[in-house]
Amino acid sequence: MTSSIEKNAFEKIEQLIAQDPAGRNIAPLVQPGHLEAAARTLTRAGRVLITTGFFVPSVEAGETDGPPGAKALGAALETLGIPAVYVTDAWNAPYLRAIGAKPLHLYEPGLLERLAPSHLISVERVGRAEDGRYYNMRGEDISPYTEPVDELFLQAAEQGLESIGIGDGGNEIGMGGCAEQVRAHVANGQTIACVVATDYLIACGVSNWGAYGLVCALSLLNSRDLLPSGEALRTEVEAIVASGGVDGVTRRNEPTVDGQPLQASTHLLAQLRALL
Ligand code: ZN
Ligand code: ZN
Repeated sequence: MTSSIEKNAFEKIEQLIAQDPAGRNIAPLVQPGHLEAAARTLTRAGRVLITTGFFVPSVEAGETDGPPGAKALGAALETLGIPAVYVTDAWNAPYLRAIGAKPLHLYEPGLLERLAPSHLISVERVGRAEDGRYYNMRGEDISPYTEPVDELFLQAAEQGLESIGIGDGGNEIGMGGCAEQVRAHVANGQTIACVVATDYLIACGVSNWGAYGLVCALSLLNSRDLLPSGEALRTEVEAIVASGGVDGVTRRNEPTVDGQPLQASTHLLAQLRALL
């Protein structure tokens, strides 16, 4: 029952996912109330388009942050009877395939019309900066390794579709909603700040954590545990690494996420589950 949800349960989720293990100064980017509002609009969704995938050119691999969170959201929505489709580009597709995220579509013009979603979610997917280029946290231009998936979100805004952005650094789709804070508070913010906004923005310490937080909020609204198990999380990160994926911070082919050991993520999941 929605009415029985402890009033501050959503705030507790926001606090848990805003833990900032990489010390990126996430707190000024957090939008109080957006997590609950994002979960509530998803309960009314007809079909949800989920995008993720952040390429690391120096090692020519995708990162472990993003795909597991995207998959957790897609699985939760499917459990609720809401179809989910995944979108990424050829550089990042192997890692989504490795964890069984399907149906999977590669970005191409016209995709929004073809998939006809009611809602869009981005989990750790780079969005363009003011100069139209795509940058990683180091301020490196990764445009040659990035299809313009963020274009879908610009089209969605024109069409009145609802959108949710989940990010942990200021350069991801959705951060256009707080670009000034990114420029002021995040390293390389003047260069990397994404200008693509979403209706709801979930800023968090690790993007997978933000996705788990949104699944936790959906669980509260539906009175059922939709969170992945710690074991599933571990298996997915290991599958991404086995496919060549890397930790986006260390750039090493190891089962860690943003420099954090897997235990940090399984612990976070347990803390979220304790709120249900
Ligand atoms: Zn990020
Ligand atoms: Zn990250």
